[in-house]
Amino acid sequence: PKYVYDFTEGNKDLKDLLGGKGANLAEMTNLGLPVPPGFTITTEACRHYLRHGTVPEGLREEVDAHLAALEQKMGRRLGQPDNPLLVSVRSGAKFSMPGMMETVLNIGLNDESVKGLAAVAGGDAAAERFAWDSYRRLVQMFGKTVLGIDGELFEEALEERKRAKGSDSDLALDAEDFKALVGTFKQIVREHAGREFPTDPREQMDLAIKAVFDSWNADRAVLYRRQERIPADLGTAVNVCTMVFGNLGMDSGTGVAFTRDPATGHQGVYGDYLQNAQGEDVVAGIRNTVPLSELEKIDKRSYDELLAIMAKLENHYRDLCDIEFTIERGKLWMLQTRVGKRTAAAAFRIATQLVDQGLITQDEAVARVTGAQLAQLMFPRFDEKADRQQIAKGMNASPGAAVGKAVFSSEKAVELAGKGEPVILVRRETNPDDLAGMVAAEGILTSRGGKTSHAAVVARGMGKTCVCGAEELDVDVRARRFTAPGGVVVSEGDLISIDGSTGAVYLGRVPVVNSPVVDYFEGKLSAAEGDELVQAVDRIMTWADAKRRLQVRANADTPEDAARARRFGAQGIGLCRTEHMFLGERRQLVENLVLAETDQERQEALDALEPLQRQDFIGLFEAMDGLPVTIRLIDPPLHEFLPDLTELSVRVAVAGDDATPKDRRLLEAVRRLHEQNPMLGLRGVRLGLVIPGLFAMQVRAIAEAAAECRKAGGDPRPEIMIPLVGAVQELEAVREEALGILEQVKQSTGVDVPAMIGTMIELPRAALTAGQIAEAAEFFSFGTNDLTQTTWGFSRDDVESAFFGRYLELGIFGVSPFETLDRDGVGRLIRIAAEEGRRTRPGIKLGICGEHGGDPDSVHFCHEVGLDYVSCSPFRIPVARLEAGRAAV
Ligand code: ADP
Ligand code: MG
Ligand code: MG
Repeated sequence: PKYVYDFTEGNKDLKDLLGGKGANLAEMTNLGLPVPPGFTITTEACRHYLRHGTVPEGLREEVDAHLAALEQKMGRRLGQPDNPLLVSVRSGAKFSMPGMMETVLNIGLNDESVKGLAAVAGGDAAAERFAWDSYRRLVQMFGKTVLGIDGELFEEALEERKRAKGSDSDLALDAEDFKALVGTFKQIVREHAGREFPTDPREQMDLAIKAVFDSWNADRAVLYRRQERIPADLGTAVNVCTMVFGNLGMDSGTGVAFTRDPATGHQGVYGDYLQNAQGEDVVAGIRNTVPLSELEKIDKRSYDELLAIMAKLENHYRDLCDIEFTIERGKLWMLQTRVGKRTAAAAFRIATQLVDQGLITQDEAVARVTGAQLAQLMFPRFDEKADRQQIAKGMNASPGAAVGKAVFSSEKAVELAGKGEPVILVRRETNPDDLAGMVAAEGILTSRGGKTSHAAVVARGMGKTCVCGAEELDVDVRARRFTAPGGVVVSEGDLISIDGSTGAVYLGRVPVVNSPVVDYFEGKLSAAEGDELVQAVDRIMTWADAKRRLQVRANADTPEDAARARRFGAQGIGLCRTEHMFLGERRQLVENLVLAETDQERQEALDALEPLQRQDFIGLFEAMDGLPVTIRLIDPPLHEFLPDLTELSVRVAVAGDDATPKDRRLLEAVRRLHEQNPMLGLRGVRLGLVIPGLFAMQVRAIAEAAAECRKAGGDPRPEIMIPLVGAVQELEAVREEALGILEQVKQSTGVDVPAMIGTMIELPRAALTAGQIAEAAEFFSFGTNDLTQTTWGFSRDDVESAFFGRYLELGIFGVSPFETLDRDGVGRLIRIAAEEGRRTRPGIKLGICGEHGGDPDSVHFCHEVGLDYVSCSPFRIPVARLEAGRAAV
């Protein structure tokens, strides 16, 4: 294979082979921009070197040939004593890894060629200074990166020299100083590397190339790749680039620039410039840089040329670019460019700006932003200008900014929140018993557990701010307080603020500002009234909506949630959980149902529940008028509505002979209903088949509510969903009964409201027999939370905190299958069910209602499989709409 490419041979699409830097240097070269000539050694050569410890055969000859051609072009040889060609040897992988790997400048200098360099630079004092400055930089960089000597040693020697001059600026040093420093640096090399600084230019170059290869596996590079999920085996390319000099005097300099503001997207002149400096000086902060706009006064011709080049690059890459440049005695050189990183806000603005400039299409604009970025823009945030006292830092588990009184139990959270007081639930770690408190709280703070802990996973699902694993905090739940480093004690009722985007925990109240993007989605702020960002979001959402094939529905149980979801763009309800309607005061009625000993008692209990249910459904139908509302019949095991077994046992035992007959009967019932594994027990369709009249009551409530809405002029569209079906026979039995009731209600009300009857697919058996189940189901909704649990055999509440952290570390999965749908396993079942369901019943409606409905990658999967809709929590709806659009462009 060919291991070396001249800059004139590559192009920007060869990043795999030439790395990002090399590919873009080639692209700029071919655009006719002023790039110092050079060549790139491929990542393939690097991979060979890393595998075998030696460079591949033929590489040396290829480098010889390219170096000879370069010397020919430049009219001087590498390190030629009287007029040396100098080069930089630069790392550059496919993905940018800022500052992670190595670069060595000024290769080719030695005791001879430094004199030649001074002579060709003009031979005066300034030229002498420049040449020796360049030489000491080479020894310094070479010593540090190639020979592995502690960089501090060189820095200290440099500082000492400056101190001796009574200055802290390198500008105070003259040629003699740098000459002395070269001597000192060489001495450091001798002492710490056990060898002389190599004076042979070609040896310098070859050693530097190997050092760049090796830097791929430097500790910090390995760590960075792991964090950024960059594959470990790509390797880096090496760019050998003719040196140009920004340190030749005040008419020279070096700088960095963006073609527009990476924080806002605004077009303008953004960057920094430093006169009489080389390479990293700009970002290293050795002297104060000047804003790029000042360059206009310093060197108007170079400035104008730079602006013209930046415009050209933007037009060419059709995106924001960042660049590195150097000016050598009034001559501009381009040293690097790439499509630049940007904030979430800038991503939206830039995408619309580029559409307006005619550079990209609306489809491309949709593709250039992500649901994750949109989610970021929707969270409230702490006012950046406000004072704050940080007391700890944990993991940024679920973004947002929350302020409230610290509380240490779920009950307290519910109690205070009920009085309208915002609270932060603080726990060592949370478990399912804390759910009510988590719902009530503004935010959740734990001292244990990682990003897949119960707290983190549930909080993300609810869109609630969460900081987890703040290990510096000593949480004492009994004493209702925690202690932070430095002896700070926070007791129940004290105000704290937590930042779920950074993991910071603050004492007291930090002011929070609302996201205007949410105000816009809520309809409180029109696009026209909004700022540039809101307008950009509005436009991109419009484009995404026009493009997407997937409908987006909401998981919502209350009219308020439904109304909010609708404002966010929901096209119906994909999952209304009816069990929430049995809590609170209605618990009593459920207890009566469970305790009923005769058919009559049971019917009385159901009759009492029915009107309440009917009212619930009327509220939902009104909020979603004209749109489908999928109502899932009761799913959880009944004992979830009864008192806790231990609590009740204690109560009965303490009361002794005075225990009420009702409590005794309750205790008996709780014992009877107790299950080893409720998740796989008496729940879902099984309840409907075992407890006579329960599903019938719910179906009647749905049908009557729909009839009432219709009579009032509304357009209710109920869909009745049966949970946890594993066999078509289960569904058939329930369906038969439901059809009978629908007919009865039609007769009794004189109103015919068609209601579809369908099922959730959340057991592997249901997926595998979907062809049969479709005989009795008018729609499928994939309940991917349970389907993930039952496919993997994971009990979500137990495994996430127990061992998911370890699994993630081991790479068994890259992300929790509860967060992003497992395409290979769970996804395969979905494919099978979708395909076989459609074969039986063409046109069967297919949706998904697990948490995955709002997860970007899972939305793309649903699009690919051809589902009709995704359903997710109201807050995730904009994200799902955007991702559904992105999946379609
Ligand atoms: P990084 O990837 O860390 O930015 P670079 O390879 O881009 O490393 O180089 C480090 C610094 O040296 C940059 O400021 C770059 O512009 C400068 N530099 C690299 N090669 C040359 C060269 N041939 N002439 C002048 N400056 C150079
Ligand atoms: Mg660079
Ligand atoms: Mg389920």
